Amino acid sequence: MSTPEAVNIQRDKALGSYNTLALQGRAQAFVTVGNERELLAALAQARSLGLPVIPLGEGSNIVLAGDVEALVLRQQCRGIEVLKTAGDAVTLRVAAGENWHDFVRWTLRQGYYGLENLALIPGTVGAAPIQNIGAYGVELRARVLRVHARYLADDRAVTLSNEDCAFAYRDSVFKGALRDQLVITAVDFTLSLQAEVTTSYPALASYFEACPSRAVTPQDVFDAVVQIRRSRLPDPAVVPNAGSFFKNPVIAGETAAALRDSYPGLPCFSQSDGRVKVAAAWMIEHCGWKGFRRDGVGVHEQHALVLINYGGDNGALLLDLAAEIASSVRDAFGVSLEIEPRVYGDRR
Ligand SMILES: Cc1cc2nc3c(=O)[nH]c(=O)nc-3n(C[C@H](O)[C@H](O)[C@H](O)COP(=O)(O)OP(=O)(O)OC[C@H]3O[C@@H](n4cnc5c(N)ncnc54)[C@H](O)[C@@H]3O)c2cc1C
Repeated sequence: MSTPEAVNIQRDKALGSYNTLALQGRAQAFVTVGNERELLAALAQARSLGLPVIPLGEGSNIVLAGDVEALVLRQQCRGIEVLKTAGDAVTLRVAAGENWHDFVRWTLRQGYYGLENLALIPGTVGAAPIQNIGAYGVELRARVLRVHARYLADDRAVTLSNEDCAFAYRDSVFKGALRDQLVITAVDFTLSLQAEVTTSYPALASYFEACPSRAVTPQDVFDAVVQIRRSRLPDPAVVPNAGSFFKNPVIAGETAAALRDSYPGLPCFSQSDGRVKVAAAWMIEHCGWKGFRRDGVGVHEQHALVLINYGGDNGALLLDLAAEIASSVRDAFGVSLEIEPRVYGDRR
């Protein structure tokens, strides 16, 4: 392996333009890495400075509560490689810094299928396994073959199989046993060369019901997902947000049945293990939070799950609001809400 070279580590860096909530907060140190050599050099420098490392993609799933006492390492390594084509399948290796949506669009142009339902999810390929991104009836785990990473502590390279990743709803080993230990460098995907589509998710099913009856293609699904997402979700570049702020709680079947008796409108989705996923947005809206604003932060007017920075720029105020929302849902429904994005920094 070649000797690590010097990288440009910036001190006391403002992070407002590196997170989609546009929250203010400063990193003690900050570096952008574009290749493996720079990554190794940055990790070596963090160790010599005695700083913990926080890998960063596009900042679309983080909340800055304040300043961050760490080296924030922005992963910008690029590259897509076809590893193998066999039968109906193709295996790809994609560098962690690739933009997720651009990659999905590229797969369709090549005739590689399976990711179209995940179009327009913000962020990088390297962050996608962290919470097993999911949307419109598909989760990332269905297409991940392996995840390549390095230990932050000693640079050691490690490859995790799909099973090793312990993927679950908005969860993985990277949020559990391996939390804060790795930087993901690349992800291997197995995609299909056959055009099969998944359109059972209610919003997609009704979209295609309204269309002429020709066979739906993966490109149609991609276009539909992009259109639906654009019509429903605020663009973070215009209205700073981090997508869904809370996970949909997964609760015991009997608890869900009792809730449904009291609240027949509550959307419930049965899980394979007998538990039931209940719609956090419905409960938050029922508690009257939709459209609420205070101190420059608030809840989106059309989407109760999306918290917005309306110019308050203060993550601590946003987290206070989130805590109040969670507490009112707990009081009304007896259900605990968990925040989806990762919180960093000390409250100011
Ligand atoms: C408008 C909007 C809509 C969204 N819709 C969805 C959706 O439909 N489904 C969904 O699942 N998510 C959704 N999200 C959340 C977000 O897009 C995903 O979680 C995405 O994968 C985050 O990517 P990122 O590069 O921005 O990660 P960041 O926000 O930069 O990082 C998120 C976490 O991953 C870690 N991380 C990032 N890169 C690496 C790496 N290379 N190695 C190790 N750790 C790393 C960070 O340390 C941090 O803990 C949405 C967000 C927004 C703003």
